[in-house]
Amino acid sequence: MMTAMKKLIVAFTVICASASPIAQGPGRGGRGPAQGVQPIQQVKPGLYVVAGAGANSLVRVTSAGVILMDTKLPGDQNYNDLMTQIKSVTEQPVKFVIVTHHHADHTGNDAKFLEAGAQVIGHENLKRNLETYQNNPLPAPPSITYPGADYLVKLGGVEVQVHHYGRSHTSGDSIVYYPDLKVVALSDAVTTGTTGPLIDYAGSAGGGSALEWKQVLARVMALDFDAAIPGNGPVLTKADVQAYKTKFDTMIDRATALVRSGVPKEQLLMQLKTDDLGWTPRVPNIEAFYNELSGIATGKAYKLEKIADGVFYATATGSMVTGSNNVAIVGDRDVLVVDTGTSPAAARAFIEDLKLVTTKPIRYVVNTHFHYDHTDGNQVYAGKADIIAHDYVKYGCIASRTRRRS
Ligand SMILES: [Zn+2]
Ligand SMILES: [Zn+2]
Repeated sequence: MMTAMKKLIVAFTVICASASPIAQGPGRGGRGPAQGVQPIQQVKPGLYVVAGAGANSLVRVTSAGVILMDTKLPGDQNYNDLMTQIKSVTEQPVKFVIVTHHHADHTGNDAKFLEAGAQVIGHENLKRNLETYQNNPLPAPPSITYPGADYLVKLGGVEVQVHHYGRSHTSGDSIVYYPDLKVVALSDAVTTGTTGPLIDYAGSAGGGSALEWKQVLARVMALDFDAAIPGNGPVLTKADVQAYKTKFDTMIDRATALVRSGVPKEQLLMQLKTDDLGWTPRVPNIEAFYNELSGIATGKAYKLEKIADGVFYATATGSMVTGSNNVAIVGDRDVLVVDTGTSPAAARAFIEDLKLVTTKPIRYVVNTHFHYDHTDGNQVYAGKADIIAHDYVKYGCIASRTRRRS
């Protein structure tokens, strides 16, 4: 089951820009990967963009060589055409290649640049993601990886900053900043037109992240820039990136609210309103998306503290609202749980987190009283465990539900 699901996700996300048929729609302005390498265009003196044949590539020319960003879809023609475009603006050889993440529309010709003597730089998580990436041919791993948040490339008196502000489109994303030109390259952390953001949860390093993506965009906005280069599409202004951030935050906040209100994962995308944002949700792995928003993914919706042999005290720690403290008493054969949290999502998160301390099944649930933050998770246990409470709890639950619906 997991293997089949993983394969499905991989099939979806081999190449970010063309993962969804939506991405091929008319809103893309003819810059899709189906097209070949496009003519080089100056962004600012010394910095050029080459669109087509995968993602946008950036060419930073210095007196001692070229710092290239992203190498397009694999293929001799794409490599040769990209080199032709670079050679039309400089005689300098490519010394460094920065790759923004592992997807093949950004890394396809890394091997050729390595063969030609360039260093290829990527985040350590990018290299790790390549170990499980299913793409033929598999992109070559970077020759230089950085483990932390920052890496600095210096060449010919020019500085280019490489930042990993957290997980976003993948777990190995790099943001590339050209401080002297006030330009930032955001790769697939930003999408354009009607193409919504794609959260690639696949990968051994934990994959992409909707919640961290919000923080990444906040940190990008703190940079001093007036031009931003997306993975695909035209050059953006800082106001464009702010508008994108607002839309992104709105979408994730809405989805989080739905998860917390107990909407089951099968219905999440149907109920998630995005038409006013001009996007169709692109969530190839709804299970991972749901788990992240509910706090399950981290195994940290609850902290389970052992207070005696077989007795665990669970307090809320994750991003979701979980309601009451819970207690789990682990017996020889099964488990008794005290209180069920403020929503079915909270109860499901608790069940997942409980698996971190025991594999025994939950057989009994006790409600201490009828208030919803102790009982609204009951429906998750119904039919699987006996729910035990005082008579008044039953009447209280029925009465409080009636009141809330009226
Ligand atoms: Zn991508
Ligand atoms: Zn891409």
